[in-house]
Amino acid sequence: MGAYQHVDIDTGLDVNTGPEDLDGLIGAVQRVCHRGIGERLGRFGMSVVQWHALQAISGNPGLPRRQLASLTGHSDQAFATLVTRLLVRGYVLRRRGSGRVTIHEVTPLGRIMLRMANEIAHEVLALLFVPLAEGERQFLQALLHRVLQGQWRLQFEPRSGARGKTTPMSQMSQSNAPYVVRDLAHVWHPCTQMKDHEALPPIPIRSGRGVWLEDYAGQRYLDAISSWWVNLFGHANPRINAAVSAQLERLEQVILAGFTHEPVIALSEALTALAPRGLTRCFYADNGSSAVEVAVKMSFHYWRNTGRSAKRRIITLSNSYHGETLGALAVGNVELYKEIYKPLLMDVITVPSPDCFGRAPGESWPEHSRRRFAHMEAALAAHAHEACAVIVEPLVQCAGNMRMYDPLYLTLLREACDRHQVHLIADEIAVGFGRTGTMFACEQAGIRPDFMCLSKGLTAGYLPLSTVMTTEAVYAAFYDDYVKLNAFLHSHSFTGNPLGCAAALASLAIFREDRTLERNRELAAHMGERASELEDHPHVAEVRQHGMILAIELAADKATRTPYPWQERRGLTVYRHALSRGVLLRPIGSVVYFMPPYVIAPDEIDLMVEVAREGIERATCG
Ligand code: PMP
Repeated sequence: MGAYQHVDIDTGLDVNTGPEDLDGLIGAVQRVCHRGIGERLGRFGMSVVQWHALQAISGNPGLPRRQLASLTGHSDQAFATLVTRLLVRGYVLRRRGSGRVTIHEVTPLGRIMLRMANEIAHEVLALLFVPLAEGERQFLQALLHRVLQGQWRLQFEPRSGARGKTTPMSQMSQSNAPYVVRDLAHVWHPCTQMKDHEALPPIPIRSGRGVWLEDYAGQRYLDAISSWWVNLFGHANPRINAAVSAQLERLEQVILAGFTHEPVIALSEALTALAPRGLTRCFYADNGSSAVEVAVKMSFHYWRNTGRSAKRRIITLSNSYHGETLGALAVGNVELYKEIYKPLLMDVITVPSPDCFGRAPGESWPEHSRRRFAHMEAALAAHAHEACAVIVEPLVQCAGNMRMYDPLYLTLLREACDRHQVHLIADEIAVGFGRTGTMFACEQAGIRPDFMCLSKGLTAGYLPLSTVMTTEAVYAAFYDDYVKLNAFLHSHSFTGNPLGCAAALASLAIFREDRTLERNRELAAHMGERASELEDHPHVAEVRQHGMILAIELAADKATRTPYPWQERRGLTVYRHALSRGVLLRPIGSVVYFMPPYVIAPDEIDLMVEVAREGIERATCG
């Protein structure tokens, strides 16, 4: 019987998790373990079948051994017991101090087991350890014997170079760890290769205030991207909180077909007063993609109702983005999101983008936009008979690498759409509500689209809500006796949700009372001034800006603007560095951008730019 030896290891476990939570935690751990498990198990000389057995017994400690035998393919009770002990009962004794447990090493095999447990703990973020009984110790010895006899092979190799890149549990705050474990057991995150979380676990956010987010360990992150471009006036804004709370006390939700409510009426009035003149009708949905679907369907349906049913195709710009539902994806053009689903998507007419990154040396933005407009003019001339609408993101193609263009393009487009009798859909989901300097980006071109899609900042980023604003002419084409079947029979359960409308009204009140657009002009000027320092960087191809959106495009070769190969994921290096410095930046490819809440202070802008500069240094140094 080997003597106990005391070894301290930092497992990064949550010291508050007691044995009573064992089943739940082990279940979570098992599910996380399952990802890429074949590769890991190879290191331990264990087969995937055995691993399944292990999962089964861990989840069901009472599972009859017989069943286990059939799972493993051989009736090796010893193996089953071993893994049960390892993962269900664990090995180690009591906790000592915060974040550390004392491991009692037993035998050479015990040491192997501990290393195995430790290894898995790193991989899956947590394992619970409970006391080891005398009988178990004897059992381990018996197992050791079998290993020494060569019947089983438990092999360990130090982990390869990846170690430096990962944030294993032992380095992660104990306070965040349990949330990460539970999250990874069940949450499938949006727009994410989940395997990336093996190296960089998601950050559980406990609270937000103003521009700051805070995790469970108290680490703060400046939200430089407004939580996916939605937040306008900071997190937990007292005025919006109060408005939503008050509405919550009155009415949380009601069907908007056949019924109505004061917040949706007031919001429709307010939006009509603010939007480009003539957009007097608001049709509600509950997210941006749905708003795009509504606008596309409405335009198609309008032409049908007015006897022009051949007009059914949509003209879109290259590099555009309008959302992820099938219709919205079809009218967008970012290959990364669209390519795979092409067989499911409607056919659209794609015209080269006016994106000014591609302008010739010495060419101004308006010159470039006018030159690029020739493509649109040609497409309209060729397809007007079959096109119902042109859809654009006014001024900034946000998801398309924050590429920007001149308002002149929109002015030309409006005139051409009128001439060719094609609708103009302005997707202001990302750029609306002050982002580009004016309340709506279309204002800078002096135009009124036929449909304007709004979401994200509509509720100041509080709640999912969207609307499509359109004209009386469009509305009238649907207004008829029911039996003519001309109505727009489109709905979503949460259409025009009262809480969302209350948040939106509170947000519009802040715009008025705080003269937000004026203050934004100063903030944008400060941001532009500070970021312009990056223009001379040898790997910065361009610093561009439209109001409160500023983008810094990195390039492998500045002179030729040759991009970095996407596989190098240079932006990810910036992301990781920024997180370590308490700033949430989320570059798109090799484009680092700022889209902060409007309550950001000048010194917070300085921090944001400084951290981005450091991140860019790191990302481009090798
Ligand atoms: N259009 C634009 C211009 C967007 O930026 C987005 C979201 N990034 C959408 C549509 C889709 O909105 P949602 O994610 O709410 O579906």
